Amino acid sequence: MSQQGYVAAPPYSQSQPGIGGFGPPSSSVHYGHYGDPNSSYSAPQPGVSKSSVPFGSPAPVGPPPPGAQQFSQSSFQNGSGTPGQQPHRFQGPPPPGNTGPSYPPYSHQSQAAFPNTAPASSTAQLADQLNSMQINSYVSCSGPGTAPSSCVPPGHPAAFQGPRLLPPTQQQMGLPPAPQLPPPPANNANGLCAQPALPPMARQGGIPGPASPNPNLQHLPGQPPGPGYPPQQANYGPQMAASQLSYPGALPGGPAQLSGPPQKKLDPDSIPSPIQVIENDKAARGGQVYATNTRGQVPPLVTTNCVIQDQGHASPRYIRCTTYCFPVTSDMAKQARVPLAAVIQPFAAVPPDETPLYLVNHGETGPIRCNRCKAYMCPFMQFIEGGRRYQCAFCNCINDVPPFFFQHLDHMGRRIDHYERPELSLGSYEYAATSDYCRDKKPPNPPAFIFMIDVSYRNIKSGLVKLICDELKTLLDKLPREEQEESSAIRVGFVTYHKVLHFFNVKSTLAQPQMMVVTDMAEVFVPLLDGFLVDFEESRSVVTNLLDQIPELFADTNESETVFAPVIQAGVEALKAAECAGKLFIFHSSLPTAEAPGKLKNRDDKKLLNTDKEKTLFQPQGNYEALAKDCVANGCCVNLFLFPNQYVDVASMGLVTMYTGGTLYKYNNFQLNTDSPQFLSDLRKDIQKKMGFDATMRVRTSTGFRATDFFGAVYMNNTTDVEMAAVDCDKAVTVEFKHDDKLNEDAGALIQCAVLYTSMSGQRRIRIHNIGLNCSSQLADIYRACETDALINFFAKSAFKAILSQPLKTVRDILMNQTAHMLACYKKNCASPAAVSQLILPDTMKVLPVYMNCLLKSCVLAGRPEISTDERAFHRQLVMAMGVADTQLFFYPLLLPIHSLDLKSDAVPAAVRCSEERLSEGGAFLLANGLSMFLWLGAGVSPELIQGLFNVPSFAHISAETTSLPDLDNPFSKKLKHILEQIQSQKPHTMKLMIVKQREQPEMLFRQFLVEDKSIYGGASYVDFLVCIHKEISQLLS
Ligand SMILES: [Zn+2]
Repeated sequence: MSQQGYVAAPPYSQSQPGIGGFGPPSSSVHYGHYGDPNSSYSAPQPGVSKSSVPFGSPAPVGPPPPGAQQFSQSSFQNGSGTPGQQPHRFQGPPPPGNTGPSYPPYSHQSQAAFPNTAPASSTAQLADQLNSMQINSYVSCSGPGTAPSSCVPPGHPAAFQGPRLLPPTQQQMGLPPAPQLPPPPANNANGLCAQPALPPMARQGGIPGPASPNPNLQHLPGQPPGPGYPPQQANYGPQMAASQLSYPGALPGGPAQLSGPPQKKLDPDSIPSPIQVIENDKAARGGQVYATNTRGQVPPLVTTNCVIQDQGHASPRYIRCTTYCFPVTSDMAKQARVPLAAVIQPFAAVPPDETPLYLVNHGETGPIRCNRCKAYMCPFMQFIEGGRRYQCAFCNCINDVPPFFFQHLDHMGRRIDHYERPELSLGSYEYAATSDYCRDKKPPNPPAFIFMIDVSYRNIKSGLVKLICDELKTLLDKLPREEQEESSAIRVGFVTYHKVLHFFNVKSTLAQPQMMVVTDMAEVFVPLLDGFLVDFEESRSVVTNLLDQIPELFADTNESETVFAPVIQAGVEALKAAECAGKLFIFHSSLPTAEAPGKLKNRDDKKLLNTDKEKTLFQPQGNYEALAKDCVANGCCVNLFLFPNQYVDVASMGLVTMYTGGTLYKYNNFQLNTDSPQFLSDLRKDIQKKMGFDATMRVRTSTGFRATDFFGAVYMNNTTDVEMAAVDCDKAVTVEFKHDDKLNEDAGALIQCAVLYTSMSGQRRIRIHNIGLNCSSQLADIYRACETDALINFFAKSAFKAILSQPLKTVRDILMNQTAHMLACYKKNCASPAAVSQLILPDTMKVLPVYMNCLLKSCVLAGRPEISTDERAFHRQLVMAMGVADTQLFFYPLLLPIHSLDLKSDAVPAAVRCSEERLSEGGAFLLANGLSMFLWLGAGVSPELIQGLFNVPSFAHISAETTSLPDLDNPFSKKLKHILEQIQSQKPHTMKLMIVKQREQPEMLFRQFLVEDKSIYGGASYVDFLVCIHKEISQLLS
């Protein structure tokens, strides 16, 4: 196993790409640059004239005048509109008062505070570093363009005092003292190897014990135990061999091995807390109206609930950016290395209290577009010559205003119908498309759903086939439809398969469904046209009859082999024949080993972990890429429900799903009684999802920069058009931008995302999202406008894409390196001259290190034998499609102390940090990350709480098999159920609840989600990571 981690011991290898001082590094390697063939940027477009009509105001859309809220067409109602009044704008980061005092820096403590008997220089080095490390969340209160004046709250009481005790918290008080454990071996230089069997995390939180793998968290031997979390030697499942602790994400040669006996405890409360950042933002901006009326405005965090009002820029629900202020030059961009990216979720769900998108219909004429760059009419366009012409904000071309669209300008130069037209005043809206935007210039047919059920032996025997068929009988009544329509236009069809395919004729005039078998898997064809895709309401009795019969029909099957690619091919052919787009729902269990195209073999190989060949595990076998391309070309989205009990090659089978905008669901070792609720909930949610079909997305930008890379569950046929067989509310595309010229501070950086798609009722539409960002020549402005949640989304997707072609270690190194580089650049250029030893984080990136560490030790980037290859491929594919809210929760789970529920209020208790020391023996905690959900019960949790939740008398009576809470008639149970529903409702995947009892076996699994701690498999703790990143920054600046 490789011993190399994401950072080496000092000195940091100077040969690392991208290291070597500042200024535009020629060798700079960072994300978006992986083998990017487009790394040279084209010159500005010829013939593009510079704007002669600069935008006078940084806010292209001002507040609408009172009373101007009616759109001229009666169908336009401009929502709840609180026009004009902007008493409360949110600009820039929260005021200093919110942050400064929250994170007291730990400042220098004299060495004498902890007698250091170890002569090793490495020890001294680390000690120096730790001692001198100061974390300051620099809060700029100076105006734009000025250098910050003060960064370092001086003289804060040291938080770093060797074996100090944690401040006792309520949960920690009164617990039995930890038993004394023998002191560590005298020489702990090989700390990891000296590990006893206990998983290391068991002793964080101030338990004295032998040789904690993380000396920073360890107390002095022989010190009296603090009032911390008691040691948990017992019952931790398999003993952890020493070698398992050195997983590649660990810090070999780093702090973990540098220190000798004197141990210091870094107070976790003194380092930036994600929870504090989330809570501060909620307090400052939660529950308010956020109006998008200002260019370059940083929105509330994705974890903050507020009502968003479109006043000229797309809602952050649709677009979030890594920074809302772009550097003016590419040299500056290379210096800062802050990725310039937008995470676009074009079909994001909006809550009922926000206005849905307006539909603009210009009839036969179609949307108004710039003659040169084809950008759509939007609030950024500048009307000139009395309103007869307009200048395109994206390419500066002067266009004539079509006569039907002409309107006079007011004294401000604004059209007098500005507020009557969504395309002039809103950031997001839709256009009705004309036949020019349709395949073969013909209006599309409504889409179809095809249900394709694997009826091989195991699925029949497990009862899965019957479960699916029974559910569909009621679920088909809930197919998605447009708001104004009474019934869904979507047609349905049915196929079953194992080694051969069975098509069903369910025409409404038939008395009985008819089955047609296709055995030629090499040349799949659709044996019937009429009667295959039907309107469910019309064919209800035949379809119901079929769904009743399917489980019976195959009850005696012995067939255990399956095909897979031909199933998808059949779906494509059926949609092609019906001339419509659609979605396949495939319910599949096994590796497709039957002789047919797309046959897969088991190629899983744990020996590849941490080798240069590890990437091959994520690459698809065979011809699945070509199949995906065929699907996209025909508007065929593939949803895959997998029920594996062994390796099924998710990297190959899931590829088509990922490329076609589908969703992959995976239920390992599916058991009917325990897993049905999760599966059925996923299926119900998925079928009812609103979505667009047969979509193409195009991102246009104003001059000086352009979109260069796209990350997401999408297919790129060329370098500009993002093709999506379908796109639903949960899917997001992350777009990276690069300079190709100098940007203009007055004009800003404008982005227009247009998605051409077929609606659920078969209408062709174009959904437009516009957003304007600022530009600045001051680095401090760039950092001040950053959004860490969007940065992590970008880093995760770019890294997860890169692992297909790069060794994982290289990918981790680059992430680490880029993080250090971004922070070093900030320190060097934006913070006031501070001691070299201080770690200074921009206010907007305070939690970047902790989130970055979570990404680095995610199972995708850090292979380890305990996690299956399929699971890693599954996570990889899911993250590629995620929006910012989903990646935030996925990498930093929500941990709620539910024992402190306030039954009198509706509020959800504030989350706590994902660390073992936040747990308490007397508490109960809920953890969720969007895929998994745990209810952790402390061994000392009160019997009343147990009774209230489970209706059993004590902890011992709770069955570990439980996967849901009973419905009980008491306020506590009801409130918790409500919270569970709330958490679940916003997430695309249904989370199965696992009950975890303290000190029982499943706790091992749960602990992997305590992401601030050192992972039991060796992933660095937050504190270790901070030390590491600090060291790298220091080296970059030295
Ligand atoms: Zn243009």
